[in-house]
Amino acid sequence: MAENQLPEAFESQMQALVGPAEYVLFKESLERPTQTSIRLNWKKPVDILFSKRPIPWVKDGYFLEERPSFTGDPTFHAGAYYVQEASSMFISHILESLKIPKGVYLDMAAAPGGKSTLLSSYLGEEGLLVANEVIAARTQILKENVIKWGLGNTVVTHNDPEHFSPLDGFFDLVLVDAPCSGEGMFRKDPLARAEWSPENVLLCSARQKRIVDKAGELVKGGGYLLYATCTFNEKENEEILRFLTEEFAFEPVRIPLDPSWGVVETEVNTEDGTFYGYRFFPHKVAGEGFFITALRRPEGAYIQVAPRNKEFKHHSLKRVGEKESVELEQEVGGEGTGKFYLLQETYFRMQGDYTQELEKLAQVLSVRYFGVELGKKYQKEWVPSHEWALSTLPKNGFPQQELTKEEALAFLRKKDLSFTDLPLGWVLLTYQKLSLGWIKNLGNRVNNYYPKEWRIRN
Ligand code: SAM
Repeated sequence: MAENQLPEAFESQMQALVGPAEYVLFKESLERPTQTSIRLNWKKPVDILFSKRPIPWVKDGYFLEERPSFTGDPTFHAGAYYVQEASSMFISHILESLKIPKGVYLDMAAAPGGKSTLLSSYLGEEGLLVANEVIAARTQILKENVIKWGLGNTVVTHNDPEHFSPLDGFFDLVLVDAPCSGEGMFRKDPLARAEWSPENVLLCSARQKRIVDKAGELVKGGGYLLYATCTFNEKENEEILRFLTEEFAFEPVRIPLDPSWGVVETEVNTEDGTFYGYRFFPHKVAGEGFFITALRRPEGAYIQVAPRNKEFKHHSLKRVGEKESVELEQEVGGEGTGKFYLLQETYFRMQGDYTQELEKLAQVLSVRYFGVELGKKYQKEWVPSHEWALSTLPKNGFPQQELTKEEALAFLRKKDLSFTDLPLGWVLLTYQKLSLGWIKNLGNRVNNYYPKEWRIRN
C-alpha cells in the first residue's frame, strides 16, 4: 500500500461510522493541510508575534496562520507556549465548563506532555499533578516539557499503570490519553496510515481496557475520569466507555457544546444510563481527529487520604528541617508556602499543601522530577539549577541580563557570549523578561550553563 493511500478496512469502517455521503467530506478533509496551534502559558506572559486567531473552546489557545520556526523563537524555549493540536485542548473546556474541583490529578499516559501542561495550568497553585509515562525515553521528554512549563506543581513518574495499585481512590481526576491506532493522525502523519490494521485496532482496544481497568480504581469518590484517544473507531472509544461502566459504578457526565464548533456527541446506552462521548472529525472541526469522554465516580466510593507522617523515610529523598526551610523560602523569595527536600545534595521546593501526597507518591512510584529543582549550596552560595531558571519561582538575589534575539539564540546554542559591565558570579539571562538560563561570569570569561542536551543544534 502506498504511504498516502487509506487502508480499505479503514474506509469501510469510517463509512459505517459517518455514512457514505459524509465519508466523502471526511476523505477530502484528509487532503487538506493541518492547522498549527499553540496554547499560551499564562504564568509566562509574552508578546506572541505570530499572526493568530483564538480557538473557540480554550481561552489560551490560538490557531496560527502559518507554521513558524519555533526553534528560532527564544520564547518557545522559555516555555511561553506549547505547540498543541487544537482538538485536544478541548480538555480545557471540560475542566472550565464543569468547574471540576482542583486537587490531586493524574495524567496516566503523559509524554510528551501536551495535556500535562494544560492540566498544570488549570491547577496552578491549587493542586498537584502527577504526570506519568511508562516508556523511559519518553519520560525524559515529558520531564523537559514539565520543567519548561515551570509551574512547580507537577511530579513526573515513570511507571506502568499496574504500579499505581497502592493509590486506589487517591486522585481527584485521572486522565487516560490512551495509546491508540492513531486514525485521527492520518492527515498529520502519513506513517500512521501505513501502520494501521484491523488487528492493531483490536490490540489497542485490549491494551486500553487493561489501562482503564487500573485507572478507574484510582479515581476517588466524587472524582472524574477522562478517557481520550486520537482515533475514530468504536472499539477504542465507545467499547472502552462501555467497559468502564461495566467494571465500575461511574456516573455519566455531559459536556456543554457550542454547535458552531462541530464537535459530535455520541451516546452509549448502558445499564447505568446513557453516557456521552465527543468526537472530533477533521471535516467538521478545525482540528485533528480526537475522541474524549468524561465519567464521574459516585460520592461514597473509596477515598484514600495520604497520611500526615511525622517522619519521612525514603532511600534518597530527605525533608529539610523547619528552620532551614524558613530560611530557604526567604532566600528563594517564595510566598511562605514552600517546603523543601534534599535529593543527595540537591535542593527541591514543593509549593503549597501537597507534601504528604508527594511523600506517599515517593514511597510507591518511581519519581523522576517534582516541584522545582533549585540547585546545590556550597558555603551558603547557590549553584542554581537550570530548572530553577525556567520555573516561575522568583530568582531573588541574582542579577539579570536582558538579551537581544540574536544573543538569546546564541545562548540557546550554547555558544560563548561576551558582555560589558556584567556583574561577577551567576547571572540570569532573560529574553522579553522570560528566564532562559544561567551564565557565570568569572571575570576573564563567561561560562554558558545552558544544558548541553537541550541546546539548539542547527
Ligand atoms: N498525553 C500525551 C500528550 O498530550 O502529550 C500523549 C500521550 S500518547 C497518546 C500515549 C502515551 O501512552 C504514550 O506516551 C505511550 O508511551 C504511552 N503508553 C504506551 N503503552 C502504554 C501502556 N501500556 N500503559 C500506559 N501508557 C502507555
